[in-house]
Parts: sequence; C-alpha cells; structure tokens
Amino acid sequence: MSSTSFLPSRLKSLSDQALIESTKAAVRTERSATTVVLHHFIEVENRRLYADRHSSLFAWAREELRYSEGAAQRRIDSSRLLRRHPQIEEQIESGQLTLTQLFYARQFFRQEKKHGKPYSLERECEVLTDIEDQSTRETLRYLMERSSAPEKLDPKIGPRPKKNGKTELRLILNEETMNDLHRIKELWSHAIPDGDLTEIIARMAKVTLEKIDPLKKAERAAQRREKRAAQRMANQDVSKKQQDRSLSADQRVAMRKTKQATHSDSSASYKNSAAASVSDVATSATASEPPAAAATSDASTSVLDAVPTPVPSPALAPATAASATANSTAGAGGVPRSLPVTMSTEIFEGIDPVTGERQISLPHLWPSRYISADVKHAVWLRDEGQCTYVDHDGKRCCSRHQLEFEHIIPFALGGENSVDNIRLLCRCHNSHMADRTFGRRLMNQKLRLRRESVL
Ligand SMILES: [Zn+2]
Repeated sequence: MSSTSFLPSRLKSLSDQALIESTKAAVRTERSATTVVLHHFIEVENRRLYADRHSSLFAWAREELRYSEGAAQRRIDSSRLLRRHPQIEEQIESGQLTLTQLFYARQFFRQEKKHGKPYSLERECEVLTDIEDQSTRETLRYLMERSSAPEKLDPKIGPRPKKNGKTELRLILNEETMNDLHRIKELWSHAIPDGDLTEIIARMAKVTLEKIDPLKKAERAAQRREKRAAQRMANQDVSKKQQDRSLSADQRVAMRKTKQATHSDSSASYKNSAAASVSDVATSATASEPPAAAATSDASTSVLDAVPTPVPSPALAPATAASATANSTAGAGGVPRSLPVTMSTEIFEGIDPVTGERQISLPHLWPSRYISADVKHAVWLRDEGQCTYVDHDGKRCCSRHQLEFEHIIPFALGGENSVDNIRLLCRCHNSHMADRTFGRRLMNQKLRLRRESVL
C-alpha cells in the first residue's frame, strides 16, 4: 500500500489555513528534493557513471530515471550551473530561481561563448541575480535583449512532430543564407521547377550527405579499389595474351627457319643441325641478346627449353631486393604512404624502379598518431558509422554523435594505427574507456590544479 493512499482523506479533514500551510510545506520538500537530485546529477556526471550503459547523461536521465526530454535537460543544465555557482542552491530551494530559468540562462551563456563573448563567473552571477523572482517570460525577454543569437533562445523554434511522420520546422535565416538558397533554387530550377523549399532542402541533405558522410566515402573508396583491382586483372590478361601471341609468332619463325635449313643442306643430318643451334643459342644467351633474337639465329622448341635461365649476379641481388622494399613502402617520389607507428632504427636503401634514383629512408624515431584515410574508411565501414561500446548486458551503444577513432590497445602503450586496433566510439565512451585505462581524468585535473596552486 502506498504511503500517500491515506492522504486524500487526511487533507479533506484539514482547515483551509492548514491546507495552505501543508501545501507550502510540500512544495518546500519538493524543491529541497530537487536540489538533492541536482547534487546527485553533479556527482554522477563527475564519476561518469552513466557511461557504462548510456551515451550521455541526458540518455541516462531519459531511459533510467524516466524523465521527459524537457525535464531531463532542465535538470542537467541546472546541475551544471549549480556546480559553477554553489550559492544559487538557496534560491532554487526558495523558488526564486526555477529550473526553467536556469535552463535558459545556461543556453544563453553557451550561445554567448559560441559567439566569442564568453561570460566570466562574476558576470554569470550578475545575470543569475538579475533574473531572480522573474517569470519565465520576463527571464527570456531579459536574456534575449542581451543575446547575440536571440532566436536560439526562442522556445517556439524547434522541430515539432506532425502527422504521417512529418516534422514542422521553423527557421530564422540571415541574408547570406537566403541568397545561397536562392542561388541553389536557380541552379536546380530544371529539377525543381516550382522551387519548392521542402524539396530543395531534401535534395541538399542528400547531396551533402553524399559528400560528407564517412560511410558513403568509405563505400566509394571500396568501389574504387575493386574497380582498380579488376582493371589490373584485365590488363594482366591482355598482356599475357599478347605475350602468348608473340611467342607463337617466334615459334613460327623458328620452325620456318629450321625447315629452310633442312631443305638447303639435305646431306647434313637433323642431329648435327640441332647441335649447332645449341651452341649458337648458348653464345647468344651469354651475349645477353633478347630471346627473340636467339630464337631466330636457329633453334627448335626443345633447344629453347634447354637454355638455362639467367641468374642475376650476387652483387645485383641486394639492390633488387632493396628496390622492391622501397617500392612497397614508398609512394610516388619515394614518400612513405603512411608513417609506421612502431619505432624503426633501420635505414632502408634502394633504387626507385621508376626514376632509377638511389633512395635512402631515414629511421622513424618518433611514432605517429596519424591514422591513414584507408584505415579510417575501413573502420567506418566495419563499425557501420556507430559507436562500438558494448555494456555489461551486451547492448551496443547506438550513438552516431561525435564519433572518434579509438586505439583498442592505447597508442601510449604501443598500440598500432591498424584497422584491427582502431574502432569507433562516441565521445562519451571514448572518455569512459580512457578513464578505465588511465584513471579518472577528473582526478588528474584535481591533481594538476593542486600542483598549480602549490607552484
Ligand atoms: Zn557510445
């Protein structure tokens, strides 16, 4: 049985004055409980306790605490202001400052910072004092008069869900953006003759995504790679066929010559002519003539087979191997395609197969954090552009917001920039993993502050 189940009958028995007093006491308790909740939010955020199962404090408040979106956001913004200004606790408890006012105040401070006019702690304090005891409307008017982007504070602007999966969106655009839109309208006038803005925005979204979405970029890169590989295979096939064709032509010439020789010297036996041709071919091979020339001198197929394949002199072998190494690790002009992450103290020397110049690759004494575009593309494709954090229940984080590339074995501990060692994490879970690996960042900050205060 709920502890409030007897309440209605008890309240009915109260006198009017007593009911008013009881209501005031209940509201005081409610506000006091609210500040208690705000302090809890501060501590949960400090310890990042939500990160184990959620991608943000907001998601945690929505899903675990079952606050509405607005209620969750108001509590988060208020708790962050309370952390900066502990003295406002009294005003919150007394009702001089409401969570809605604090929410708008924080939006205002954030917008000003974004516009390059950050408020100092003292000025923030002045604003909070000014809006005490004001209604939400008065507070908004006060903030909008001082704001660099008043439209951003207007609560009426924002997406509103409509029927049939549609959303109403009211926008305030400046002159420059309107001119840009007008130009796009002109350029797309064939495709969208009536210049319908909804259609233009839909098309703009598609075009932009095609250009900036790393998943689509990765798809295109994979397609390009496949196409290049197919092209290479086709080229190899063509050159092989050409080789076969030229070889059979050589063979034809050789056979014709052999026939002519047999006809012209009918007294000489076939064995003798073959022996002579072996010595001819052997001589021409040592003189480094091309095989075609050797074949035309006088040879049959069996004779050609008998010729040993030339072996490069030992002095040439290291240079060939070195040039192959240089070729595999260097791009055009011998510049390494990506810096190796592991430290190397070896000096590579080789001949560029294209330019024939001698190249020396100096040791990489400093490992680089640089992750190549190919690796990034492969990781984006594999992780499907989504955070890969999995909680204790095996649930994967669904965040696609502020994704970062994380080293599974941390870079600082020698982790490589390879596809296997890189994964996508949202910013929240990247910080969470860093906390786990290197200890809480907050602790570090506190230590640093303490150190600075000692200095
Ligand atoms: Zn995540």
